[in-house]
Amino acid sequence: MSKGFLIDMDGVIYSGNDLIEGADIFIAELKRRNLPFLFLTNNSQRTSRDVINKLAGIGIEAEEENVFTSAMATGWFLARQKPFGSAYVLGEGGLLTSLHENGYSLVNQDPDFVVVGEGRNFTLEMVNHAVDMILGGAKLVATNLDPSPKKAGWNNLGIKAIVSMIEEATGVKAFSVGKPSPVMMRVARKKLGLDSVNTTIIGDTMDTDILGGIQLGYHTVLTLSGVSKSKDLKSYAFSPDLVVDSIAEFDLDKWLNSSDSGSSKVMKPNGKAILQEQF
Ligand SMILES: [Mg+2]
Repeated sequence: MSKGFLIDMDGVIYSGNDLIEGADIFIAELKRRNLPFLFLTNNSQRTSRDVINKLAGIGIEAEEENVFTSAMATGWFLARQKPFGSAYVLGEGGLLTSLHENGYSLVNQDPDFVVVGEGRNFTLEMVNHAVDMILGGAKLVATNLDPSPKKAGWNNLGIKAIVSMIEEATGVKAFSVGKPSPVMMRVARKKLGLDSVNTTIIGDTMDTDILGGIQLGYHTVLTLSGVSKSKDLKSYAFSPDLVVDSIAEFDLDKWLNSSDSGSSKVMKPNGKAILQEQF
């Protein structure tokens, strides 16, 4: 069976609006070898068409079939929980589009679900309204629980901050669909038609990409070009199979050959990847 890749975007492929060096070459190489891949993002703001446009802007050609967002995963999930249900949404285009495509009605009263995604346009009044609906029986779903960047100038509230506010106000815990939730991680693998052992996730965040990959038995590659830094790794009880400074350092041939032999790679203290037999 073919091997394939789930690839996080922010911090792996691009940083803000800038291409991370080598990402375009890596994607071109996957295409040249006909290796299946999916861009996987927790950001629920964009539609797959928006994502493709953004990638095109930094020199990476992709098709809609190459993109899977937490908004798409949330639509998929809700359609199976309650087909043709209704939702009150705190979120933007990508999420609204996905819910519509999955047969959901967007309503302002008595929804089955309150769904929270990234957004800059909703007001405290809308949050208050959402709280009221949840207290009235609506279920709370988050597209992801990504933390806020906590960096001056980023002007950004992570969904976790918004969801925490609603959880406190209602006493209800949200169900999150995005990485590291197995819902999104498993559907993504199935979209590529891969077995777990033939799936590699490449990401920049220990708490989402790598945790999710480890929980589902995928191979895991951490790039240090984004959120997680080398010094952070010692505080986790789990480790990725491979750590690289950036995608440009990822040796595809070596990786494909080493997973063929059933071995994994770990990082030595000097930062060099070595082979280690699995036991
Ligand atoms: Mg990322």
